[in-house]
Amino acid sequence: MDGCVVVISAMKGVTDKLMRAAQEGRREDLADVLGSYEDALRYIAPSDYVRYSSMLDIIGGSARRYLSVGDVDAVAAHGELLSATVMAAALEARGTRSTAVYDPGIVLERPGGVSGLSGFYVRQRLLHLIERGVTPVVPGFIGWTPDGKPATLGRGGSDYTASLLANYLGASRVFFYTDVPGIYSGDPNIIGNPKVINCMNVEEAYVFSAMGGKKFHPRTFEPLIGTRITAFITSPGSTSGTLISKKAGAGPKAVALFDALRIGRRGRAVAIIGKVDPRDLPFNPDFKDSNGNAFGKVFDDEERAVEAAKELHDWVISWAR
Ligand code: ASP
Ligand code: MG
Repeated sequence: MDGCVVVISAMKGVTDKLMRAAQEGRREDLADVLGSYEDALRYIAPSDYVRYSSMLDIIGGSARRYLSVGDVDAVAAHGELLSATVMAAALEARGTRSTAVYDPGIVLERPGGVSGLSGFYVRQRLLHLIERGVTPVVPGFIGWTPDGKPATLGRGGSDYTASLLANYLGASRVFFYTDVPGIYSGDPNIIGNPKVINCMNVEEAYVFSAMGGKKFHPRTFEPLIGTRITAFITSPGSTSGTLISKKAGAGPKAVALFDALRIGRRGRAVAIIGKVDPRDLPFNPDFKDSNGNAFGKVFDDEERAVEAAKELHDWVISWAR
């Protein structure tokens, strides 16, 4: 079956603003957010403004109710609900039959914990639309608790939603459109000259995001492991990007620098990401992941960790040449 599902995130800055609004009980901030979505809708689908703006009002009303009881997670989920409305309107306005599916069936057992039943519900709710040629627009980042409350998958969770749906629906490809043109070989704030990685395998991408690469949600690539799905990470309008597929060759790809707590240690950890023969490594690692896709060392102080990360990054880049 041919077809496509769109997963949408909140507009820039919206999730932070909603969380602050809920923490501080600031209804004005919520009104600001709603205002920016109304503006976007007016710009993108002027002839359908009235129809879709009533939906924005309903979502706004729901956000206000959760704000009044201080449920930060539930309020945060509303950015994606608003985005789904505007995106569905935009597609319809451009002649693509589409509908926002606010609850596609991702059930959350506890914050961040996706229930194993979700695949069944997702197929039940989305496949019949796809079969009829309708493009479902799904809010990323959120799921619904069994008692019908919106909750989130954790920061950066929209990409994780897309991978989950790709897995549940047996997709062949998933595209991530983000604000960077792919996955970088290191954090640009630390490493001066990172490169966009052309090709990675899914296990490498998984350990890299679990170790904090590109601020991906740590589980983003988990649903793709063991599937035939290829993923492409790029930004709108860019011709380059990172292809994640089974065919990616071995070799070091990137350097991660992260809080060693993630691996149950104290200090700062630096790791080389990529399938490497340990004998080829330029250092003696003191930890590795179970599949041989990451090798690293823990440092007591930040300065030495940063220095090591830079040196290892130079080695990674020279390997690629
Ligand atoms: N809007 C959410 C966040 O800012 C989810 C995402 O962008 O992936 O964390
Ligand atoms: Mg986002």
